Amino acid sequence: MADSFDVIVIGGGPAGYPAAIRAGQNKLTVACIDEWRNRDGTYAFGGTCLNAGCIPSKALLESTELYHRAREEFALHGIKTSGVSVDVAQMQKRKAGIVKTSTQGILALFKGAGVTPLQGHGKLLPGRRVEYTAADGTKRELTAAHVILASGSVPLELKCAPFQAPHIIDSQGALELDSAPKRLGVIGAGVIGLELGSVWRRLGSEVTVLEALPDFLAIADQQLAKEAARHFKKQGLDIRLGARVTGARVAGDAVEVAYEDAAGAHGLTVDRLIVAVGRRPYTKDLLAEGTGIELDERGFIKVDQQCRTAVEGIWAVGDCVRGPMLAHKGKEEGVMAADLIAGHFGEVNYKTVPAVIYTAPEIAWVGQTEEQVKASGRPYKVGVFPFLANGRARAMEQAQGFAKILAARDDDEILGVHIVGPMAGELIAEAVLAMEYSASTEDLQRTIHAHPTLSESLHEAALAADKRAIDSLNR
Ligand code: FAD
Ligand code: NAD
Repeated sequence: MADSFDVIVIGGGPAGYPAAIRAGQNKLTVACIDEWRNRDGTYAFGGTCLNAGCIPSKALLESTELYHRAREEFALHGIKTSGVSVDVAQMQKRKAGIVKTSTQGILALFKGAGVTPLQGHGKLLPGRRVEYTAADGTKRELTAAHVILASGSVPLELKCAPFQAPHIIDSQGALELDSAPKRLGVIGAGVIGLELGSVWRRLGSEVTVLEALPDFLAIADQQLAKEAARHFKKQGLDIRLGARVTGARVAGDAVEVAYEDAAGAHGLTVDRLIVAVGRRPYTKDLLAEGTGIELDERGFIKVDQQCRTAVEGIWAVGDCVRGPMLAHKGKEEGVMAADLIAGHFGEVNYKTVPAVIYTAPEIAWVGQTEEQVKASGRPYKVGVFPFLANGRARAMEQAQGFAKILAARDDDEILGVHIVGPMAGELIAEAVLAMEYSASTEDLQRTIHAHPTLSESLHEAALAADKRAIDSLNR
């Protein structure tokens, strides 16, 4: 193995591995160091996303949604079922298989792009040198013209409710439960709380979610949040807002949780407690003394808009830098850094990073919320179209929620799109593309959408912004 590379990437998650692949595509010599180990001790590329995040959670969301539909919706379609039951072990086995295929796929991609995979720990030393510690503990010093730091993030722990597996667990533990706890508590009604709360609710758990903030999904458009909250309530998710957890302790095989809200102090007893209150950047043993890399007050590696640190030749991308902690945001940053290193054009448009919550109905948005547009003072118009009036959604028995578009009154620029409804995560791609190309609602209005498709809802929402929707009453 060479000791010197054009590029060394530390971290092989969805920010790091695409950076390495793009560097290889750019004909640069590149190595990617990753230390992720599975519970059985084996190494795996793919980081949090592939091993313990996006992919396993979506696998379980899909399986449990199918189970839910078989029990609750098939009869409406005239499909008779009896004795539908669930095999959680098989569900987990399928999930593990998907994860394994995906993570092993990265090694094949690395081979194709000429990336040297190095499994073990990477540490940045001063002078663009990297100390690589292999599985057997042997250390080697490598040098590179450029180093990309992509060390990711880890779950935040609450002092008042420290992790204590198997009772008080983080998101990874919540993905690995072997049966549905009778009573499941979740601290945090954020993305993880809602997705994993939904998984176990569908499998029969009584789920109570304690959220500190008084508003549900405070970062989302509030019309969308209200609609989503209505559906979650109907599904039996007990979401308690303004609930500040003050303590949690394991008592026998249960967890006693104490929290306070406007009405006073309360207690809650659950069998398992998931703590999902956000994640923090992970930089443990990443930076040796004297590298010159700076962290901000929350521990993120400081970078500019193009992911350059203050030290020439050292870049940082993904969850370890500012911005939303999303796999696709990290991927674009990794690719941008690898392109800029090769002297090519590279840019991330942070205004068009989509957000998706894979619940049922799904939630997705891009751009500004109505609250943000209002606060900006720019005159705007709104088009909302309900899935109830969409033929495909009705045929699917999924006619819930709406598509909403916000546009400027002056030049018709699309400012934000918010969708709660079937396949919202797929539908948002059109809105992202429209905004990336600075499209107006008129552009969307004049774009032909196949009938009958869910995508017609976005078309009709664009028409509704000018009170010209065909399939709704334009109120
Ligand atoms: P990571 O994925 O955390 O990868 C960093 C890698 O670097 C890890 O493998 C780590 O072991 C390694 N590493 C760290 N330090 C070193 C070192 N010094 N030497 C060697 N290796 C090192 N995002 C979405 O966009 N969509 C989703 O649906 C989604 N679902 C999620 C579900 C869950 C349950 C969770 C927890 C997260 C989810 N996310 C989702 C967030 C997503 O997983 C992260 O945004 C993404 O993984 C960040 O990518 P990254 O490459 O920056 O970091
Ligand atoms: P989050 O930031 O989405 O939500 C955390 C929630 O916990 C917030 O609503 C917050 O107000 C609440 N909270 C914080 N402290 C609390 C306390 N002491 N008591 C009660 N509530 C408290 O974080 P997450 O759900 O842990 O997810 C972590 C990251 O992973 C997020 O940045 C998210 O973007 C990413 N993720 C993305 C997806 C996706 O894209 N579908 C899925 C899962 C995770």
